[in-house]
Formats: sequence, structure tokens, C-alpha cells
Amino acid sequence: MKKLNLGVVAHVDAGKTSLTERLLYSTGALAEIGSVDAGSTRTDSLELERERGITIRSAVASFAIGDVSVNLLDTPGHPDFIAEVERVLGVLDGAVLVISAVEGVQPQTVVLMRALQRLRVPTLMFVNKIDRGGADADRVLAGIADRLTSAVVAMGSVTGLGSRDALFQPYRSEDAGFAARLLDLLSSDDDALLAAYVEDEAAVSYGRLRSALAQRVGRGRVHPVFFGSAITGAGVAELLAGIAELLPAGDGDVDGPLSGTVFKIERGRAGEKVAYVRLFSGSLRVRDRLQLRGRREKVTGIGVFTPGGVLPRSSVGAGEIAQLLGLVGVRIGDPVGVPPASVGSRQFAPPTLETVVVPVDPAAKGALHAALAQLAEQDPLIGLRQDDLRGELSVSLYGEVQKEVVQATLAREFGVEVSFRETTVICIERLVGCGSAFEIIDVAPNPFLATVGLRVEPAPVGSGVLFRLEVELGSMPYAFMRAVEETVHLTLRQGLYGWQVPDCLVVLTHSGYWPRQSHAHAIFDKSMSSTAGDFRNLTPLVLMEALRRAGTRVYEPVHTFSLELPADSYGTVSPVLAQLRAVPLAPRPQGRVYLLDGTIPAARVHELQQRLPGLTGGEGVLESAFSHYALADGCPSRPRTDADRLDRVGYLLRVQRRV
Ligand code: GDP
Repeated sequence: MKKLNLGVVAHVDAGKTSLTERLLYSTGALAEIGSVDAGSTRTDSLELERERGITIRSAVASFAIGDVSVNLLDTPGHPDFIAEVERVLGVLDGAVLVISAVEGVQPQTVVLMRALQRLRVPTLMFVNKIDRGGADADRVLAGIADRLTSAVVAMGSVTGLGSRDALFQPYRSEDAGFAARLLDLLSSDDDALLAAYVEDEAAVSYGRLRSALAQRVGRGRVHPVFFGSAITGAGVAELLAGIAELLPAGDGDVDGPLSGTVFKIERGRAGEKVAYVRLFSGSLRVRDRLQLRGRREKVTGIGVFTPGGVLPRSSVGAGEIAQLLGLVGVRIGDPVGVPPASVGSRQFAPPTLETVVVPVDPAAKGALHAALAQLAEQDPLIGLRQDDLRGELSVSLYGEVQKEVVQATLAREFGVEVSFRETTVICIERLVGCGSAFEIIDVAPNPFLATVGLRVEPAPVGSGVLFRLEVELGSMPYAFMRAVEETVHLTLRQGLYGWQVPDCLVVLTHSGYWPRQSHAHAIFDKSMSSTAGDFRNLTPLVLMEALRRAGTRVYEPVHTFSLELPADSYGTVSPVLAQLRAVPLAPRPQGRVYLLDGTIPAARVHELQQRLPGLTGGEGVLESAFSHYALADGCPSRPRTDADRLDRVGYLLRVQRRV
């Protein structure tokens, strides 16, 4: 049986949830059709999503189209979750991009299409809501060509547009115009097809065109467009046929080396981890052992998705998606076996905001910490920062809506009610030049039994913290080297202004220690012997001094935005953009709206979002995503969680108290 892992993606409200329901119902996987408006759909599993009517977390449902077995992966639609969307897109064989026939292409549609193209996901388009007043097929097609891609072909026409009786009429082989359009589109980069056509037009059969179309769709080069309604069911049978015919099966070599990726983690009833994995190659059996984050872990159970629900199985193979049980240390994004090429090379945008989480009941602090640690541990997209000095916990965020998700998850899954402080932006620090410093063992003012010398140098953006040795590897016990390196990474989480220094070369230039010594009665004498603790305590002092000599500057995150607004509101919006330090490019008129692209500091995105409805009579649509870091005005600093790192005396006093 052919297998297909499919995703439905859409701008919020385009009808993704309703279409998912309709697909499950039409193929018999659901006996009754749920309704988003009544809050009874199957794929929206979180109560919060029901209340908000938006789908946030992905879930898997399964159905069959003839001999094709389809796993449908629900993907989040809100822009705050684009990183999560991309994580799911990376494991798909194909996607259906839903576009509303009334609202047309929306900014989030553009963002999603770009992600699909970047990841080369074969994608069909479904223009939904043809039954609703205001639906306009031609306008949507023009919008697709203008803003998404020109490599599209409408697979049929619509009758009764804008009424309950609207129907989709697929084009057939007899439709000469359709065959000509297909040929035109497909022969542009298919020389064989073009040559055959030039030789003898009639010799290029409709069947050949269809298979050329499937081939091109499979490579993500051409996008067929279907029309229909998730509510009336119009066009859904044709979409299903298109999915089976035009999207490529999720194959892979079952006998090849094991390779897969974990794209989601859930907690089972007893709190155990359930890992969702996509296998690209090889196969996996219950009781197999996997190497995960340096630990060997045993798969104690495998579940696969069937139209009736999750079924236990003894093995799973390439091309499939499964639930794995028993993997205690697993995290989202972990590779299973050999890391798949397509997944490892992807980089997610960093979160640019953070907020302090406060338990409503002060006594729940411990429970809150445990809960947040658990969330962060299974999902690398949730960043946790602990400030022992102030007894505070902060989480990093991609957008304001994520606060509500964190709040609801904490309340529902952990019984902890929380509120948030004001959201602030996360800056970074970059080195201005090079700097070095050292302290020698037994030479004042060094109170530690260790010699450490470090040089810091600027490193290219995205290169991370690199640690190199300019001393002989054998000059010091490995444990001491490790202590220095680990402490370097920890210390660089807070540079001179309290922000992380993400890219930097750190060179160990001096090292020295006193070997383990003992008196005649053979008791270890700490006052004469270096320990890893000496290196852990000394390294921050040396590194901060080297940083001070190199100098750092603070950079703030900047987003690119695209703004769609009624032409007559441009005059009102423009000065507000300037106030918010946005830098727009020239507006592009499109019909009665203006499209405006540009950049804006991440710190001001939310304010723009909030003021936009008032400025545009509710018609402005804003989309933004992280772009880069730019030098921030006036070096904003962040309160340190290690207040005394920059104050030698205070630092030494604290270390001594601890020792
Ligand atoms: P999602 O946010 O993309 O998951 O969209 P939903 O499925 O929640 O749909 C958003 C709203 O549009 C709901 O009120 C649906 O009832 C409505 N809707 C979805 N599809 C259609 C359709 O084909 N026709 C009409 N008339 N309404 C639709």
C-alpha cells in the first residue's frame, strides 16, 4: 500500500480544521462531521484551541484514499508558531495549502508558501469557501500568481460561485484549453516533452501530460489548484483524487540504515513520553535500542496511525510515521539513527521576546519550575532562564499568543496558574575586537589553584562559541580542560551587558595546575592540589576581563514585515511606522490595497499589531518574522542573574561563601 504523510497548512480561518474534518469524513475515517463553530472537531485537541478556534499543536489523523494510506499531520496556523510549522513541514511528503476564496492570499499564506518552497514540499492548493458570498476564483488565482508563484494550474472551474450550490467542475482530457495550458507550463523545463510536442502535437497524449504533471508536482515545481468548500463538501472528492494521483508516496529504503526525526512529543496518561517519529530509511522494532543524546534507550512500544485510531505494532519502516514509547530523554528535533539530511540543515529563527512567569499562588514556585523545566526539556523551542538572585523564571517567546498557550498548558497539564510580567525583547552581544587576560597559579591576586589564560576574538554570525587550545592538550588533566570549556559556555550566556554572546572564538592561551598531593599519611590535601572547581571559579574572572578588553556591543532583533492596508489609510499608518522605528520600502499598489514590506525592531511588532486595526478600520494585515540583529541604540542592558560577575571582590566573596 502506498503511504503518504500529508500536511494541511493555511492562514488562520482559511478553513484548515474544517477541511481536515471533511477529508476524514469523506473517506469514512469519521462517522460524523464535527464543526469548528460548535467546538467538536477531532484534530483540535487542546481546549484552548477550541475556545480560540485556532489549531496550535499538530496531531495525526489517518485515512485511506483507495490504496493510498494517508497520515494527516495537522500543523499550527498562527504566525507565532512558524518554527513549529516548519518542524512539521520537514517530515511531510506533500501538503495542501488552503486559501480562502473570499479573503484570498493573506500574508501568512505567503510565509507558509515560502517555507514549503524552501523545504521543497510538493504542494497542492485548495481554494476553500467557494460557497460563501464574496468568493472570487479569478481574483484568488491572480493573487496566487502575483504573491505566491506563477507555476500554478487551475484543475477545474467553479459554477454557482458564492452560493450554497457552488460546485467544482474538474477539467477533462477533452478540454483543449486545459491540455494546452498544461503543455505550456510543463514543457518550459522539459525538453523531451517540448520536442515531442514540436514534432507532433497530437502525439503528446493527455495521459503523458498528467504523468508529467505528477512528476513536476513531486519535485515541488508546479502547483495544481483545486476549488471547493469544506462546509458543503464541493470539490473535496476531486481534491482527494488529486492527492492520490499527484503527490508522491513517502517511500524510502526499508533495508537501508535507520534514519528518522522526532517532530513532536506528547505525554501519555501516566506522564510518560510519547515521541512522534518520521522514518525516512530503515526500520525499527520494539525492544530496539536507540542512541539518543549520548544515551542508549530502549523502544518499549510502537504505535501506528490507522483510520480507527492508534494501533500497537511490532515494527515500523521507512516512509511511515509512528509513536515510540520508552524513550525517556528524547526531545523534539532529535534524530533517530543517522540524522536526515533535510532536517539537520535547517535553522529556526531564534525567539526574540521573553517574559517573567509568576505563579498566582506564591507557594507554587517549585511546581512551576518543575513544569516549565519539563516543557523546555521536551521542546527546544521553549527557552527557560532562571534568575536565582531574584527568584524569577523567564521563558523565551516567539510572540504574544504563545503566552496564552504556555499559560493554558501550565494550568491544564500541571495545575499551576500563572501570570506574566511585561514582555521584553532578547538582545545579544557581539565582540568589538580581540581581548585577552590571564591569571597565574599562586600569584596574587589569583586565589585559586589554577592558571587560566583566555583570548576572545569576534566570530562570524551563526558560527556559535568555538573553543580552541593554544596549549598542549596533554599539559593538563582532561577534566580541568573540560571544566574551563564548560565554564566558558556558561559564562558567555551573559556578556558585559547581561546578554548572551552567541558567536565568539575563545582560545585557551595559558594553563597550569598543581597535581594531586598528599602528606605522608595519605590524606588528600586540598590546599596543595588543584581541583576542577578551581578552574570553574577562575574561568569567569579571566573571561570577563578578556571580554572587557575586547569590548562588546548590544544588538537587538529586527523583523521583516509585510503589511497589507487599504490605500487610503497609508497616510495615517506611515507616520506611526516611523514612530515605531520601522523602515518601509516603497508601497506597491494592488487593487484597492497597498502592500508594504520593510523591517521593524522586534520590540515594536506587538505595538504595531495592536494599533493597526484602529489605523486601518480593521483591514490592515501584518505579518512579521525574525530577520537579523542590528546595533541597538544606547546599549540596553539586562539585569544579571550573576550580579557580581563584573565585580571581582563581590564575586570572590560569594564563591568563598559557597566553598
Ligand atoms: P482554520 O482556522 O483554518 O482551521 O479554519 P476553520 O476550519 O476553523 O474555519 C474558520 C471559519 O470558516 C469557521 O467559522 C468555519 O465554519 C468557516 N469555514 C471553513 N470552511 C468553510 C467553507 O468552505 N465555507 C464556508 N462558508 N465557511 C467555511
